[in-house]
This record gives sequence, C-alpha cells and structure tokens, in this order.
Amino acid sequence: MAQRSFKAETQQLLDLVINSIYTHREIFLREVVSNASDAIDKLKFKALTEPEIMKEDESLEIKLDIDKESKTLTIEDNGIGMTFDEVVENIGTIAKSGSKEFLKKLKSTKEGDAINELIGQFGVGFYSVFMVAKKVSLKTKSPYSDEGVLWESTGDGKYSIEKIEKENRGTQITLYFKDDVLKEEDYLDQYKISELVKKYSDFISYPIKMNFYTEKPEEKDDKGNVTKEKEIEVEEKTLNSMKPLWLRNKSEIKEEEYEDFYKQSFHAWDKPIDVIHAKAEGKIEYTMLLFIPEKAPYDFYSVNYERGLKLYSKQIFIMDKNKDLLPEYLGFVKGLVDSPDFSLNISREILQHSSQLTLVAKNIEKKILQSLKYMLENSREKYEKFWSEFGRAIIAGINVDFGANSDKIKDL
Ligand code: ADP
Ligand code: MG
Repeated sequence: MAQRSFKAETQQLLDLVINSIYTHREIFLREVVSNASDAIDKLKFKALTEPEIMKEDESLEIKLDIDKESKTLTIEDNGIGMTFDEVVENIGTIAKSGSKEFLKKLKSTKEGDAINELIGQFGVGFYSVFMVAKKVSLKTKSPYSDEGVLWESTGDGKYSIEKIEKENRGTQITLYFKDDVLKEEDYLDQYKISELVKKYSDFISYPIKMNFYTEKPEEKDDKGNVTKEKEIEVEEKTLNSMKPLWLRNKSEIKEEEYEDFYKQSFHAWDKPIDVIHAKAEGKIEYTMLLFIPEKAPYDFYSVNYERGLKLYSKQIFIMDKNKDLLPEYLGFVKGLVDSPDFSLNISREILQHSSQLTLVAKNIEKKILQSLKYMLENSREKYEKFWSEFGRAIIAGINVDFGANSDKIKDL
C-alpha cells in the first residue's frame, strides 16, 4: 500500500487538532454528517444532467453503525464519492477555504483558549475526526471510476492510499476511537450518538439511520434448562426529523407545531406569546423564525443571561446564541436564522464584520418592533402580559438606542 505524506500545512492543522484540549470534540459527528449530506447534494445536482450516475428511485441516505467490539463508528453515505485523485486532493490537502482561514487566524494566535475557540467556530471539517479517533479508514467510490479507493491514516504525518474493489457508490468512514476519549465520552453508546445527531444534524434533509441493538436475554424453564438462546435484535431507526419547520410554508404550519418546536429547540416550558416567521429574498437570502416567550427565563434580568439567535446555513447548525443578530434590549427573543449565504465554517469575527449580518440584524430588529406594535394595537391583553414580563427590557432599550428606532421603542 502506497504511503504518502500530508502537505506540511495539513499536518500542522492536524497536530493542532489532535493535541488540542478542546472540550467540544463531539462536533466531529456534525462535520462528517455534513460532508455526507454535501456529497448527496452533489450527486443529486450532477444527476440532473447525468441521470445515469444513480439508479432510479434510489433512496439517498446516511447510515451510522456502532461496533462495540472493534470500538468503531462507521458513517456511510451513497453520495458522489471520490476518485483516487480526488481523495489525494481533498483529504490529503487543505483544500477548503475554512481550514485555510483557520490556519491564517491561528498564526496570529498563541493562547490555548483562543485556539480552542477557533476550533469550535471553524469546525475544521474532516480533520476534526482526529480529535476522537486514533485511526481513520475511508473507503469511497465515485460514479466516474470503476475502482474504489481505500485511504487510511493515524493522523501522524502519513496516510496510505490504494485502489480497492468497492461495489457501491459513495463514502464509508470508519473511526477507531481513542481509549482515553471513550473514557470521557461514550461514543459507542447508541443513545449518545442519536442525541448528538438530534443536537447538530436534526434538520439535514436526508435520513440519518442507525442500527439499534438490543440484547434479548436467554430464556430458561423451571428446571433451569435454556429454552431460548440469548439473541441480539437489530432495529434500524431514523435519527433526524428532517423537518426544518422554518422552510415550510407558514400557512401550512399549525400553532402546536410552532409550540413544540419552540419547546424542543430552546428547552422552554412556556408557550410563545408570538411567532415571527419570515423569509427575505434579495441581496442576502435568509429565513427567520423568532419566538417571543410568554415568560421571562429565571435569569433573564441577571448578568448571566446569554441572549442570541441560532445560526444555520442550509439547515446545518453553525452556532448557538449569536449576539450580533439581536440588540440587547430585545434579548428575550428566541429563534434562529438560516441563510445559504452564511458559510458553515464561518468564524464569529468574520460574522461580526460582515455587512450582510448587519443588514440581517437590522431587519430582525425592525420585524420584532413591528410585531410588538401590532400586538399592542390589536391584542391589548396579550400585550399587557408581555409588558409585565419584558417591559423593563424595552425601557432599557430607550436609553441605549438613539437611532432610528428610538421613537418606535418609546411608542411601545
Ligand atoms: P468542506 O466540507 O468544508 O469542504 P472538509 O474538511 O469537511 O471541508 O472536507 C474536505 C473535502 O473532502 C470536501 O470538500 C469533499 O470534497 C471531501 N469529502 C469529505 N467527506 C466526503 C464524503 N463523505 N463524500 C465525498 N467527498 C467528501
Ligand atoms: Mg465539511
């Protein structure tokens, strides 16, 4: 099997990821799942003009499988796959802009904390698997090649690559977990993995399936003779809901659905007193789904309260509690913004300085003020309830906003 070295830059990034004391190692799953989803997107796109690259009625999906014995997790997709050259190009080199940007940033950063923060923001894509795996084995097949490819690495400067037989199109990645990682986080636990999929990849538009294994104990009769051997039952379950509520048509969404979504996504116990669901098309395209809570969270008026909106790009979760999208005095609003114009590997700093984001933030503020005004004029009782919870925050807004909105805030 041919041995090759990573490009120096790639190795530098790898060393950093491997040796980091990053506490959110779990993002590796988000990264491999998003790559699998991208690969299926690419296949579907190509198939529009080259229908022969896939079978008709083929179901496109992502499969996870845990093997407790070998201490591995396998992630498989039937997306576009890679040819031999593509594996060398995409996996052996830092091709993507996110990682490059990350390395650039890194050169100006020396503090451990800051580095960890960077890893979280950038995700660092495929290489993040080396935070949890001592060895990674990737098998892939492109519809443009008769042969498959096996790529393996322990992340220590070298990788091996060879041509193999592979029947199905797509990519299969097996992660051999490090023992010390497993001691801290049990990635071989099927419930842990399904929880992570829910957390990071619930709205991926292809089914993410996993085999669940349940052990049926042996059965004995009165005399203690075994009447039925112990059995392992296998059941395949789909882990993600695939339902990005915010992308559905407003008119087709029931109030309960908004309510359930609000509770699930924001760990809330109350109901939203108002829902703002809007889509913007123009210079920058995005969808917002915002909730005005009925009750103030217990820590809302304390310094510990963290405001912010969740950020998605094409249904993939990027960031929780982005502060730049929500002015402080409207910090009680919960919700999310999804835009194909936000990159998955975007950093907080890039976001802060982007004029796109400022534009979105302005629009969000305007929308919220509009809905509150509407509530005030059309459902006084509801508004009074709102006021008793959040009036203090609105009043604080008058004191900080001297701009275009200050009159609007006063009216409220
Ligand atoms: P990014 O997803 O931002 O491009 P990654 O580091 O996550 O960067 O992945 C690097 C590249 O490897 C991808 O751009 C893609 O070309 C290739 N790749 C990774 N996973 C897969 C996969 N499951 N199927 C096909 N190609 C993949
Ligand atoms: Mg990626």
